[in-house]
Amino acid sequence: MAKKKIGLPKGLLWYKYHNMWEKFFEKLGCETICSAPTDQKMVEEGVRRSVDEICIPVKIFYGHCLDIAGECDYIFIPRYWRVTKDSITCPKLITTTDTTEQILKDEFPNKILTTTINLKIKSDFASFFLLGLKINKNPLKVMRAYREAIEAQKEHEENLEKKFEEKLSGSGIKLALIGHEYNLYDHYINQELIAELEKQDINVITSDIVPKTIGEEALKGKPSIYWSYEKEIIGSAYWALASEKISGLILISSFNCGPDSLLYEQVLLEDSGKPILSMLIDEYTSKETIKTRIDAFVELLTRKVSLKDEERNRQFT
Ligand code: SF4
Repeated sequence: MAKKKIGLPKGLLWYKYHNMWEKFFEKLGCETICSAPTDQKMVEEGVRRSVDEICIPVKIFYGHCLDIAGECDYIFIPRYWRVTKDSITCPKLITTTDTTEQILKDEFPNKILTTTINLKIKSDFASFFLLGLKINKNPLKVMRAYREAIEAQKEHEENLEKKFEEKLSGSGIKLALIGHEYNLYDHYINQELIAELEKQDINVITSDIVPKTIGEEALKGKPSIYWSYEKEIIGSAYWALASEKISGLILISSFNCGPDSLLYEQVLLEDSGKPILSMLIDEYTSKETIKTRIDAFVELLTRKVSLKDEERNRQFT
């Protein structure tokens, strides 16, 4: 029997969980098909089918779904609602399953495969178990697939922590790049921001590699945050503000993103003395705009670091 083809659009939470999802479906005997890196056509298609109020990562996500819809039996769009009992994810993320269903309803009806992760109501295991049974009726096989998927996710997170240690002990000016994974790693959304910084010898420490425990510690005594993923992001930002190893921060957010705009204000109000660049991105942001802002910021950062070095040297002579 031919393997079921499950499409995984390369956008939004794909960056966080794709190792887990791929392993889960693979162990259930499916083939996974991932969309290509974001291109102009995906952006145009996504933007054309969206309402203006939606942020760019969601618009692009629609483009990714359309990119693979013709090649697969189902497109997997989970609804991550509550990933802890006392927090919630952004409403635009929660409703992406439903909005995509509407968008694809004429060309590809009944293609969306979903499950709801709401830890206030049921466990992560229960959500994936019920999903797995829709694909494979053997409960033992589904349980095994879930266990291996969780292992894959754990391994991915351990690798991020290793990367954090390596980056932190590496040389060069260290800069914290703060944002959602889909803004940090989609080369089209951020117009190759990380590559551009690295070209200028900046050691970029992205917020997703900062261990959760470090972020949680940094959030102690700060105003509480209700949104799950923002809690992690802002925790990393507070850590970066306090860390002696970090010379500056870039906060990257999407136009029309309520949670980021609100919480980044909180970070900007902290009096750390470190240079912070806040970058708002949408479908019209050009590579030139990003480059101009990065060049000016890196120059400021470099000057600040050498002034600090000079001052330290003076103290010791
Ligand atoms: S957190 Fe912001 S960028 Fe992410 S989906 Fe929600 S509104 Fe869009």
